[in-house]
Amino acid sequence: MLAGKTALVTGSTSGIGKAIALRLAADGANIVLNGFGDANEIEALRAGIEKDYKVKATYSAADLSKADAIEAMMKEAAATFGGIDILVNNAGVQFVSPIEEFPVEKWNLIIALNLSAAFHTTRLVLPHMKKQKWGRIINMGSAHAKVASPFKSAYVAAKHGISGLTKTTALEGATFGVRCNTICPGYVHTPLVDGQIADTAKARGMSEEQVKNEVILAAQPTKEFVTVEEVAALASFLCTDAAAQINGADLSIDGGWTAQ
Ligand code: NAD
Repeated sequence: MLAGKTALVTGSTSGIGKAIALRLAADGANIVLNGFGDANEIEALRAGIEKDYKVKATYSAADLSKADAIEAMMKEAAATFGGIDILVNNAGVQFVSPIEEFPVEKWNLIIALNLSAAFHTTRLVLPHMKKQKWGRIINMGSAHAKVASPFKSAYVAAKHGISGLTKTTALEGATFGVRCNTICPGYVHTPLVDGQIADTAKARGMSEEQVKNEVILAAQPTKEFVTVEEVAALASFLCTDAAAQINGADLSIDGGWTAQ
């Protein structure tokens, strides 16, 4: 389905991004991996993608909170593959704290990584996508792109921002075959959520078990975590011709959380 196309998935060494990279490789796309982690595990992931799906896969260790590192990654990817056809802006971190105690450096990091990085990758891929009259940009939002929760000021601000960036990109790319959408998952069980359970327990003075049942699954009417494979399947669908008129949308995959 995506044979001959190249997908760059940021933050794809773990969780949702990794599942999306594997899914797009299974669909036939070459893959540019990015993110942090154990070098041997990342190399095993990269080599495994090439072996299992008969596509080319490369890896960039770029720190996406830094604009110059993003530029270098995009240049290298374009030189290797001739251009990025599918961009998935997924890398993100979370920090939980009341606003008045929120560390300024954490605010700056979350805005840089969860929001500004997507602006930089987008501005750098658009010329190629517009020129070839085809491109897919998928921004990883969250239910927190639509509604807030206490103690997540930077994350909620960044995710609402990414929804605005998506809509603007969708309008600018509309007549050039470029489509841009935001995927808005509810709680997906990944290392990011594990970290949040611990942080929320601290911020609210609750046990981790209480946070899981009374905070996390309380928000999700299905009382089930979203799976990374379900999010990856939606990303895959957005790359198909059938999704050609889905543009600028905030697509919820949250078990009904934001229906409330
Ligand atoms: P994760 O912690 O499993 O993965 C995050 C990825 O980002 C990793 O590959 C990590 O190495 C990478 N990363 C972190 N800092 C980076 C940096 N400075 N530069 C480059 N890469 C960096 O998290 P996840 O749960 O898979 O989250 C992925 C995305 O999904 C995030 O944008 C998150 O906000 C969003 N999301 C997650 C959930 C959830 O419940 N897990 C829900 C909604 C949205």
